[in-house]
Amino acid sequence: MAERKENVVMFPFMAQGHLIPFLALAVQIEQRRGYTVTFVNTPLNITKLRSSLPPNTTIRFLELPFCSADHGLPPDSENTDVLPYPLIVHLMEASLSLKPSFKRLISDITDQQQGYPPLCIIADMFFGWTIDIANEFGIFHTVFNAGSAYGMAIYNSLWLHLPHCKTSSDEFLLPDFPQVSRIHRSQLSNQLKTADGTDSWSIFLQRVLPQWLNSDGLLLNTVEDLDRTGLHYFRRKSGRPVWPIGPTVSSMTRARPSKDANCLEWLDIHPPASVIYISFGSQNTVSASQMMELAMALEASNKNFIWVVRPPLGFDINSEFRAVEWLPDGFEDRMSKCKRGLLVRKWAPQLEILSHKSTGAFLSHCGWNSVLESLSHGVPIIGWPIAAEQFYNAELLDEEIGVCVEVARGNGCEVRHVEIASVIEMVMDENGKGGDMRKKACEIKEMIKDAIRDDDEGYKGSSVKAMDEFFN
Ligand code: UDP
Repeated sequence: MAERKENVVMFPFMAQGHLIPFLALAVQIEQRRGYTVTFVNTPLNITKLRSSLPPNTTIRFLELPFCSADHGLPPDSENTDVLPYPLIVHLMEASLSLKPSFKRLISDITDQQQGYPPLCIIADMFFGWTIDIANEFGIFHTVFNAGSAYGMAIYNSLWLHLPHCKTSSDEFLLPDFPQVSRIHRSQLSNQLKTADGTDSWSIFLQRVLPQWLNSDGLLLNTVEDLDRTGLHYFRRKSGRPVWPIGPTVSSMTRARPSKDANCLEWLDIHPPASVIYISFGSQNTVSASQMMELAMALEASNKNFIWVVRPPLGFDINSEFRAVEWLPDGFEDRMSKCKRGLLVRKWAPQLEILSHKSTGAFLSHCGWNSVLESLSHGVPIIGWPIAAEQFYNAELLDEEIGVCVEVARGNGCEVRHVEIASVIEMVMDENGKGGDMRKKACEIKEMIKDAIRDDDEGYKGSSVKAMDEFFN
C-alpha cells in the first residue's frame, strides 16, 4: 500500500472528556478518510492512549514536554482519569507553556524532520493559541469542540460578557444569544457565580475562548438535527464554516476498550432496561451529604444500579476509599448481597454499560460525551448537572428534546432522597413519562445512527456530509 502523506495534526487538551472524543476522531480520520494522523500530547498521556487504540491503526504520536508537578499541580495531573474540577483552570493555564514546544514541533514536521508537512491542525478549544502558529506556517487550522453547540454557546456568551455581574436579578438575558430567552442564576457553575472579570477563570477564558473566531472553521462533536439553536449561534457569530460531525465516539472507535468484565457480567444477570447507571463523569463529584441522599434514594427505590463512586467534594479524590464517611452504614454490603447494586471505584466501562440491554436509564452530570453515548444507545437521562456547560446541556435535553428529567435543578440545591427516589421511580416506570422518555431516546438513537450513516448505496448522513465538507 502506498504510504499516506497528507498529515492531519491533532492536539487535544489533557482531560478525559477531550482526549476520548479527539482520539475517536483521529481513528476515524485515519481509518475511514485515509489520512496520516499525528496526535500530539504529553508523554504520560501518549503512553496511555497508545495502549487503548483499536488494532490496525497507524496514528503517530508526538510528545510535548510537560510535567504537571512543574506547575504546582499534583503529580501526573495531565494523565489522571479523574481530575478534580477546581484544578482544571490551573492545568489550562499551565498548558500555555506548551506554545514554544508546539511551534518547534510544527517546524520539525514542516521541515520533514518529523514526518510529512501538516495539511491541517485540529486543536482543542483551550488551545486556540495554536492559530498563530498555523498562520505562521501557512497551515489550515480548525478547532474541535467536544461540547454541545447549545451548551458551549451559552458558556461562551456567559464567560465573555459576565451578564450576571451587571444585574442583581436572578434571571438575565444573554447579550449575544437572542434565541435563549433567559438564564437563571442557579444555572451558573461555582466558577461563574464568583467571577468578576479579575479571577483566574475569567482571565483565562476571556483570552482563549474568542481565539477560535480566527480559525478557519469549527468542528463540533454534535449532530445537526439535535443541536440547531447552538449551531446557529456559532455560524452567526463566526461567519465561518461550522461542521457538526458527531458523535465521534462509537463502539467501533472506542478510545478506551473495557477491561472490566465485572460490570458486564453483573448486567447480564438483570432483566432488560432494569438498571440505572450512575456517573458524574471524569472531573465532578457531589458533596458527602448528597452522596448519602443518593444512596438512600437508591436503596428506597428498590431499583438495580451501577454507581461509579468517587470520594465526594472536600475529600482527596485519589485517597483510599473510606465510604463509611459518605455512604449509609453497610450500604455496599447490603446492595451487593441481594445483587441490587454494584459500586465501581473511580472508573467504569461506560460505553459498554450504556450499550448493554439491561441498562434502562443514566443518572448523569450531563457532560456532552456522556449525553451522546447515552442517546446513541436509546438510554434516557436523569440529569444532575454540576459544572461548566452541563446545566445548559440538561436544559436542552429536558425542555427541547424530552429525553431527560433533572433531579437537581440548579447549582447548589440540596436534593433530598425522597425527591431523587421519586424521579427514579418516574423514569424507570414504562407507563407515563418514563416510557415517553425511552421512546424519545430511541428516536434520537435512530437520528444519531442516521447522521453517521455512510452506506454502499451512496446515502450520507448529516455528520458524514459535514466531515466531507470539512475535508473538501
Ligand atoms: N468515562 C468512562 N468511565 C467513567 C467515567 C467517564 O468511560 O467512569 C468516559 C465517558 O464515557 C465519556 C468521558 O469519560 O466519554 C467523560 O466525558 P463527559 O463529557 O461526559 O464528561 P467530563 O468528564 O468531561 O465532565
